[in-house]
Amino acid sequence: MTPLAERLIRRMRASGPMTLAEYMAECLLDPDHGYYATREPFGVAGDFTTAPEISQMFGELIGLCLAQSWLDQGAPSPFTLAELGPGRGTLMADLLCATRGVPGFHDALRLHLVEASPRLRDRQRKALPGIAISFHDTAEDLPPDAPLFLIANEFFDALPIRQFRREGDRWREVMVTAGADGLALGLSDAAPIPVLAHRLADTLEGDTVEICPSAPAISEAIARRIASCGGLALIIDYGGWRSLGDTFQALRGHQPEDPLASPGLADLTAHVDFEPLAQAAKAAGGATSYTEQGPFLERLGISPRAERLARNLSGAQRESHLAAHRRLTRAEEMGHLFKVLAIHPAFAPPPGFT
Ligand code: SAH
Repeated sequence: MTPLAERLIRRMRASGPMTLAEYMAECLLDPDHGYYATREPFGVAGDFTTAPEISQMFGELIGLCLAQSWLDQGAPSPFTLAELGPGRGTLMADLLCATRGVPGFHDALRLHLVEASPRLRDRQRKALPGIAISFHDTAEDLPPDAPLFLIANEFFDALPIRQFRREGDRWREVMVTAGADGLALGLSDAAPIPVLAHRLADTLEGDTVEICPSAPAISEAIARRIASCGGLALIIDYGGWRSLGDTFQALRGHQPEDPLASPGLADLTAHVDFEPLAQAAKAAGGATSYTEQGPFLERLGISPRAERLARNLSGAQRESHLAAHRRLTRAEEMGHLFKVLAIHPAFAPPPGFT
């Protein structure tokens, strides 16, 4: 049993079961034992690989998309360039590299990173030398009065979720409990859940639905800034629209495992439901667009960029570059499962969506 499992069991024996959201928050962010606080999650040696770690093309195209939108909106100066959950800082480094040739972009940008883990903040500082960085704990702390150009890749899937199972017109919540020999899952008593009232129309007895309680407020904070000052936010993640079913998952050493098996040592995530993010953005005055990652990257020109880079490569390097292109775009790899939600001012539909 991990040290965190022992601590959670002691606590639950005293105060009762915890929601999946409470469990996820402890496992990911506990300062002593939490996954992001203690582990090196990314890359071949880590537990999972993300798009910016697969190829430089991902960060480059995001950069050009944001920069084109910035030009389309009159090249405002200064503006906030922000990333939520920058991981190793790879995406931002590629983005900055690709936008160096956009006149005025670098002079006008003020870089703001939202990152919970002090260890990853150090990583990000090292990946982005020679540029001033303002770090924040939450997106709600981003500057309220400047145009906001923002990227969040695989950030929302790490936010804690709650899970409910339908019983009649009521819901039983999936809870983590202290079992006889370790952590176990249980169900709360059935109760009406007001935020799930609209799901009674499209679910059946026994269906599982998930909610991410902290996500809408983040989307709203971003949309409020973009509605009043301009900008563009790109939220990229695996998931869907009004998602249905159990998507709570753990990854360790690139292998799926039981999310209760090794708290603090495995990455815990859930699919992102984009519908409440879009609703919160609209309620705050933003407009939204939604597409799949594969078509999005194609429209931004990933294929010509891939060909251009391939010209200078040979042998195994060329093969792995071509495989990375396929992995990011093909429907059966990341192209379909990963979605892109844009939050933008009504007058400026972003590049890559049409
Ligand atoms: N965007 C990166 C990393 C994704 S992993 C990439 O694509 O490679 C998730 C990132 O979000 C990590 O940097 C993690 O430390 C950060 N993170 C997770 N939960 C967070 C929270 N609640 N607040 C702020 N940052 C968080």
